[in-house]
Amino acid sequence: MKVLIVYAHPEPQSLNGALRDFAIGRLQQAGHEVRVSDLYAMQWKATVDANDSTEPVRGARFDVSAESRRAFENGTQSADIALEQGKLRWADAVILQFPLWWFSMPAILKGWVERVYACGFAYGVGEHSDARWGDRYGEGSLAGKRAMLMVTAGGWESHYGARGINGPIDDLLFPIQHGILYYPGFDVLPPFVVYRTSRIDEARYARIRDALGQRLDTLATTPPIAFRPQNGGDYEIPALTLKADVAPGQAGFAAHVKGSRDERADRDAEHNRL
Ligand code: FAD
Repeated sequence: MKVLIVYAHPEPQSLNGALRDFAIGRLQQAGHEVRVSDLYAMQWKATVDANDSTEPVRGARFDVSAESRRAFENGTQSADIALEQGKLRWADAVILQFPLWWFSMPAILKGWVERVYACGFAYGVGEHSDARWGDRYGEGSLAGKRAMLMVTAGGWESHYGARGINGPIDDLLFPIQHGILYYPGFDVLPPFVVYRTSRIDEARYARIRDALGQRLDTLATTPPIAFRPQNGGDYEIPALTLKADVAPGQAGFAAHVKGSRDERADRDAEHNRL
């Protein structure tokens, strides 16, 4: 497989840096081709603005989506954006690797998404009408590719459990896994999460590395999270609410994943045990 790692940590000699280097080596040993977008090293520009196109803004004001679509379709996007889109097209699997900062991804990675996910590339794809909301959530430009998050967190696993104070990790990651990855079509694998990062000695680091190695070895075969496709019949059109007979009585993020709560809890426990 061709694997793209989009990596967001400012310090190469960090836990994230060590796990990234391990991941590259493990994937290459298994015969995969690996490319890395090291966002801090690249000095990635994290803010969307009119300089993202080589053409001047059309009209009296800067319309972000319209200018993004125009630049994408006319081939006038700035070179850094086009390069990253090319890497996404190239990849069979994409890993977003980052430390959890303020319950989400570091700003530089969010800025990568905002700029690389151009209108016409990652959103605004397919027919938009009264009967259809485009190709998204299971369909789209990146359909057929796999994606996985590799996340480190200072908090304990229990803090991110079903009743933990920070909220369940699946809920916190839902906007990234469902909103950013599933939206343009990726099959999203369960995340690889390392908790309690301030308590890592050599023995625990070896266990973490082994667990990560197993996840990388099964990158091509791990079943993805069973998010419900937008155009698969589970949603009322055009309201895009779940039909009454789908996940009855359930609301919130979990309702958009097929399978019972118990099945999901078992699967999550399996993946998170380190
Ligand atoms: P490092 O600090 O580099 O390393 C952590 C530990 O790993 C080290 O002390 C060391 O013991 C060990 N280690 C490192 N490298 C190796 C190696 N090669 N071999 C063996 N052991 C090694 N946490 C949350 O849970 N939720 C939040 O919302 C949150 N917000 C944050 C916001 C900010 C701005 C910051 C700075 C931190 C936040 N944190 C939060 C904590 C953050 O998630 C962790 O600090 C981060 O995940 C640790 O990853 P790192 O790569 O920076 O680790």
